[in-house]
Amino acid sequence: GSKGQGGNHYSFYTAEMGEQAYEHLRMEGALQRALQRGEFLLHYQPVVDIGSGRVTGVEALLRWQPQDRGMVSPAEFIPLAEETGLIVPIGDWVLQTAMRQQVAWRQAGLPLVRISVNLSARQFLGQDVAQRVAGLLAQTGCDPSWLTLEITESVLMENPVAATETMGRLAEMGVQLAIDDFGTGYSSLASLKRFPIHSLKIDRSFVMDLTQDADDAAIVNAVIALAHSMKLNVIAEGVETTEQLAFLQEHGCDQMQGYCFSRPVAPERIEAMLRRESA
Ligand code: C2E
Ligand code: MG
Ligand code: MG
Ligand code: MG
Repeated sequence: GSKGQGGNHYSFYTAEMGEQAYEHLRMEGALQRALQRGEFLLHYQPVVDIGSGRVTGVEALLRWQPQDRGMVSPAEFIPLAEETGLIVPIGDWVLQTAMRQQVAWRQAGLPLVRISVNLSARQFLGQDVAQRVAGLLAQTGCDPSWLTLEITESVLMENPVAATETMGRLAEMGVQLAIDDFGTGYSSLASLKRFPIHSLKIDRSFVMDLTQDADDAAIVNAVIALAHSMKLNVIAEGVETTEQLAFLQEHGCDQMQGYCFSRPVAPERIEAMLRRESA
């Protein structure tokens, strides 16, 4: 009868929720241990100037390498790290490691490149990120004018007042700000005007079908034109083909990152790349 079915549903859902809660706890513990054991590392993806073809920056991308398994993608653990608050210590580790890397490359005599670091919503809104960044800049000797922090549109729209405050303080330190995954949220370019941002990163989903889908081509084109009219730098994400690159070049996109140039790689590979370029 219907009563029995309801009962079955009830027990089915509780069992599933119990499993989820268990998996959640297990992962939380694993992430905490990962931080203590030093299982996190950063890979860097080159950001290329479309006009000159030169590497002008790198984006730091978090990787988790457990002792007993293959590399785990951030998409698999960042959401949970956000939910549990572990993103704050993990994010601090990312910021510090990227800043130290910038100093190490400078000391090794490599040409200066901009390092971009992703900040999650919770990191940006839930703590005094400006104070943490200031502390880490002082501690590492990182040059703030060669540091970019990436946040998504949703962070700005969630709490525009707090975001404006924080962005103002970061901008005062000389740190640049970029809007990541642009186009996937609900903000208009016009609404971005009130924030002190430097760059827009066009989301990979628009770049992907650029050469097949007329709507995507129109969107990318419009974003480039409007961003430029607002004096913003535009970076295309996820460029995989030379056709996509040709379109972006033709439409005046400033920079790009994507597999067509390089995947995210270990810091040694970036060093080799920069050495080759400066030779
Ligand atoms: P994101 O910041 O938008 O980073 C770009 C993602 O696109 C990276 O994935 C990169 O490997 C991938 N990608 C770059 N070029 C191509 C391409 O040509 N084709 C394809 N298919 N993919 C490309 P990844 O490293 O897996 O990172 C995923 C997301 O995880 C990032 O998206 C970012 O939102 C988040 N993330 C990564 N590192 C951190 C971090 O240190 N802190 C925080 N809060 N989030 C991070
Ligand atoms: Mg990013
Ligand atoms: Mg992105
Ligand atoms: Mg993304």
